[in-house]
Amino acid sequence: MAVDPESFSILQESVARFVRERLLPREREIAALEQPPKDLLDEVRELGLFGLTFPEQYGGLELDPLQEVKVGFELGRASPAMRNFISIHNGVAGQSLNFGGTAAQKAKYMPRLASGELIAAFALTEPDVGSDARSIQTKAEKTPDGWVINGRKRFISNAPFAGLITVLAKTQETDGELSVSAFLVEANTPGMSIARPEHKMGQQGAPICDIVFDDCRLGGEALLGAKTGIGLKAAMAGLDRGRLFIASCCVGLAYRLLEDATDYGLQRVQFGVPIVRHQLIQALLADSLTEAYAAQGMVENAARLASVGRPIGCEASMCKLYATEMVGRVADRAVQIHGGNGYISDYMVEQLYRDVRVLRIYEGTSQIQQTIIAKHLTARRQNGERLG
Ligand SMILES: Cc1cc2nc3c(=O)[nH]c(=O)nc-3n(C[C@H](O)[C@H](O)[C@H](O)COP(=O)(O)OP(=O)(O)OC[C@H]3O[C@@H](n4cnc5c(N)ncnc54)[C@H](O)[C@@H]3O)c2cc1C
Repeated sequence: MAVDPESFSILQESVARFVRERLLPREREIAALEQPPKDLLDEVRELGLFGLTFPEQYGGLELDPLQEVKVGFELGRASPAMRNFISIHNGVAGQSLNFGGTAAQKAKYMPRLASGELIAAFALTEPDVGSDARSIQTKAEKTPDGWVINGRKRFISNAPFAGLITVLAKTQETDGELSVSAFLVEANTPGMSIARPEHKMGQQGAPICDIVFDDCRLGGEALLGAKTGIGLKAAMAGLDRGRLFIASCCVGLAYRLLEDATDYGLQRVQFGVPIVRHQLIQALLADSLTEAYAAQGMVENAARLASVGRPIGCEASMCKLYATEMVGRVADRAVQIHGGNGYISDYMVEQLYRDVRVLRIYEGTSQIQQTIIAKHLTARRQNGERLG
């Protein structure tokens, strides 16, 4: 499903205006707060951004992947803190429910998620486990009337204000084997507590916290899909689109950084001319624009494939890898073009340089993307497939 082209272009323009007129002027304020300001959250709700990917039948916009990345190109232009909670909500948290939830679970939560009444979080990472998701130690044990969860989750985005948290935990199968299952845990469930937000390098305003489960009791209906062992599969189903969305936001941010750096270079005069006239500065700008354009093409191409139902496991990883590394280089060059001013917090480029660093780490590090891409590549050659 997709929104019709006319309605979509109205949405795209509304998002661009929201970013330009509402988010950009308040980036400093957002970074100074522990969580996004309430009035901006209300505007995000009104724009429908909490329902970007949720099915229409539950009140979502159900954008197709190409439309979704076009929204990402716009949203990405603002500091990633505001974009972060929209992505987690629509991405891995919302999509794991969409792909893995029962009809009753979807009917219960999807309308409230799509409207933004409930904000979603997704809890996989633990103190001793990040990339190696199969090794999580949080346990869910069966009780006569449901489940009891014990364990600790780490770095969970949206934790302080999430109304619904998808929690991955180990469960025991009938043959004694342990598998990874997912549970839908509502905020304020007894036995669950949220620790203080971490002090981060960047993306202030997008809090991350530990969540502790201490004999947290859930009803039987909390098991995602009413089936054990499907937790990782449901999470992975949402990850591809989540990775593509992050990549699209990196493209938007790279263009914004380039606009800032070019504008600065046009007015900053050294050796009697604006610094954009120096060829070594031109090289920094040209490399950045070329790489942003390459990433945009990759993202649009992968989104087109996803829009016609093609699996994009490899493409989503390539886009995430390239676009997050690309925006890191673009931010670094933008600081360089600003000279000493780029190191001073009066200039937004200083904040954005810190903000982009984590994009290479969460939702699968660059190294994990490389292992996924290499796995796809070797499988294709083992099948005798022609590349390109
Ligand atoms: C701001 C922020 C928000 C986050 N939000 C969430 C969230 O909402 N929910 C959630 O569950 N988690 C979240 N995370 C956690 C994030 O997803 C993890 O930090 C990330 O997956 C990496 O895991 P790790 O930190 O344990 O690093 P590790 O897995 O310990 O990795 C350490 C290093 O080893 C490398 N490495 C690991 N395995 C391999 C391998 N097989 N081959 C090559 N290199 C390897 C990694 O690439 C990395 O460089 C968030 C983190 C941050 C910083």
